[in-house]
Order: sequence, then structure tokens, then C-alpha cells
Amino acid sequence: MNEPGVEVEGMRVAFDGVTALEDVSLSIEPGEFFTLVGPSGCGKTTMLRAIAGLTDGADGSVAIDGRDVTDAPPEARNVGMVFQNYALFPHMSVHENVAYGLRFHDLGDDRSEDERVAELLDLVDLSGVADRSPEQLSGGQQQRIALARALAPEPDVLLLDEPLSALDAKLRKRLRVQIKTIQQELAITTIYVTHDQAEALALSDRVAVMHDGHVEQLAAPETVYRDPASRFVAEFVGDNNLFEGTVTAGGTCIIVDGAKLPLPADAGVSAGESVTLAVRPEAIAVVDGANGSGSVETTLEATVETVEFLGDAYRAHCRWQDRRVEVKTAASEPPSGEVRLRFDRADAYVI
Ligand code: ATP
Repeated sequence: MNEPGVEVEGMRVAFDGVTALEDVSLSIEPGEFFTLVGPSGCGKTTMLRAIAGLTDGADGSVAIDGRDVTDAPPEARNVGMVFQNYALFPHMSVHENVAYGLRFHDLGDDRSEDERVAELLDLVDLSGVADRSPEQLSGGQQQRIALARALAPEPDVLLLDEPLSALDAKLRKRLRVQIKTIQQELAITTIYVTHDQAEALALSDRVAVMHDGHVEQLAAPETVYRDPASRFVAEFVGDNNLFEGTVTAGGTCIIVDGAKLPLPADAGVSAGESVTLAVRPEAIAVVDGANGSGSVETTLEATVETVEFLGDAYRAHCRWQDRRVEVKTAASEPPSGEVRLRFDRADAYVI
């Protein structure tokens, strides 16, 4: 059986008595693209640095490809790291920057340094810029060079700490596809840190959603999105409408402000229980006229307050009773005025 790519057990870190990580364990598969995502201060960078051996006072164990590296210094762990701010050496050429990654490393074969650098520049699709200095490159190009430098010594694990957050939105999307492509080509175990949930969903095989120093949910992106384990995850990952109410006698609906909202068939709740029902904006339809089909129990009479045009859809911020309800609709005209909203019970979930 394969050893895990990275195994972290019982990681605890505190800074001046403030807990940054409380007893977190992770088991990451070889070749997996694994993402730590969460709001600022949740401990994701601390976890990445603990894996790299850069956190003082980290209490817990780390193994890489079955090798216990808990007491090993960073340079003996064979990890490659990329940071948000490129960290290229400005006085060295692109070629020299990448070659620097090889400085303390014997590739163990007959490739020359020049051949390896050329290979890496080709991998990040920047063969033409070897002689330039970093300042003659765009932010996105600099980050690809930083990636090439991190990959130069053929690390067992690639650690990426918010590598795209200094770039503009369009470039961010393009570069994330390149990172994913390179990661797949090399099949390298990768741990990625981001506060951007959309980036986490787009890139990862599995995602650990972190909050206040612990993991709230660890699952495939689809599971985190469709079946959030907690209210925190439901609110942090994507947009959600949350309705708190009491389960009806029949167990099929909840009562919210006097209205009945349908529960999913397999909700596993009992009559009288207080529950939170979550419905994604894209699961709510704007309908005209009378109540809809048999599969839908309720329409909510709401007022559209603000509409945003998203290109492929409209996001309407509506008011229903005293609540805001967000709806995403692909209709060709923006909804306005008094509307009826409805959703299918199969598209709602209980938290
Ligand atoms: P961000 O996205 O803002 O970097 P993060 O999720 O990566 O956030 P960490 O950087 O891991 O969070 O920080 C976790 C907690 O530990 C925070 O409360 C932070 O203030 C604290 N912390 C991190 N590094 C140190 C340090 N060197 N000294 C003191 N406190 C620290």
C-alpha cells in the first residue's frame, strides 16, 4: 500500500498563548491537489509552514512519503515552496533564479544544470525569457518562474501559499489553470493555501475548510459545496440563503415566519426540531403568476431590491418578509418589482 504523500498528526501551534492551530491531523494522498481554505487568520499559512518546517514551536508530527520529518530542518524535507510575493532574486536573471533552486541539490542523473533549467522553463511555458531579469517580467510570469524554481530540485511535495493573490482577476484564473496542468503533468503532491473559495473549488481534489485553527470540513469540492457540514462552511463556500425554522408535524417542511418551506426528502429531522435550511441562489427560481408544479410546495412573495448583471446571469437581492433572499437567474431580462420565488425540496439541504 502507498504511504500518504503527507501525513500530519496532532499539529498544535500557539503564538504568545494565542492558538493558531488546535490539534489538526491531515492525511494527503500521493499526487493529490489538496487545498487549505478559510478566512484570514484561520491558521492555513501556519499549517503550511509547519509542514515545511518553518514554524517554531510546532507541536505535532509530519511525515512525507512515509519519512518522519518532524525533527528535520526545512532544507532536509524536500519540499518546494511558492509564496504570494514571488520572492525572486532581482539581481539574477531568470535562468539564474531557476538554477538557484538546484544549488543544493544533486539530480542524481546526467542532466546538466542548463538542461534542467531549460526543461523547467519549458514546463512553465517561459522558454524565451531566460536571460531577462525578473523586473522585466509581468507578475504572472514572475510567479511562473517562482514555480519553476520551487520545482527545480524535484521536491516530493509542492507547497503554495496564496500564489495568485497579488495578480489581477483575469490573470489569476489563467494561471490557476496552468498550475493545475503542471501539477497533473508532474503528479506531484501539492498543498495549496488560499482564502478564495472559488479557487479552492476549481483546483482541488480535496479541500479542507479551516476556521479558527481547526478543520470544519475535509472533502471533495463537490461535497463541500453541495453538502456543507456546518453553517460556517455553508456561508463561507459559495453563496447561500439560510432559513431557520421549526420542523412541521409531518416532518416535510419547516415553518419560517408563518410560511412553510419544503425540506429535502432525506432530511433526517423530527417534528418540532429547530433546523437551518440552506438553499443556493441558483436553486431558487423567479416565477410569474400562480403556484408552480407539483414538486414544489411553496412560493415566496418577495420584492426585488437590487439586481446585479453577472454576464451569464442576474443576481437579484430580494426581500421576503424581513429577510433578504438572494436569487441567481439565467433569464434574459432582470427580475424586478413583486416576484414569486420557489425552489424544489431536492435542491435544499439541512445543516
Ligand atoms: P492569512 O490568510 O491572513 O495569512 P491564515 O489563515 O494563513 O491567514 P495564519 O497566518 O496561519 O492564518 O495565522 C493564524 C493565527 O496565528 C492568526 O491569529 C495570526 O495572527 C497568528 N500568527 C501567525 N503567525 C504569527 C506569528 N509569527 N506571531 C504571532 N502570531 C502569529
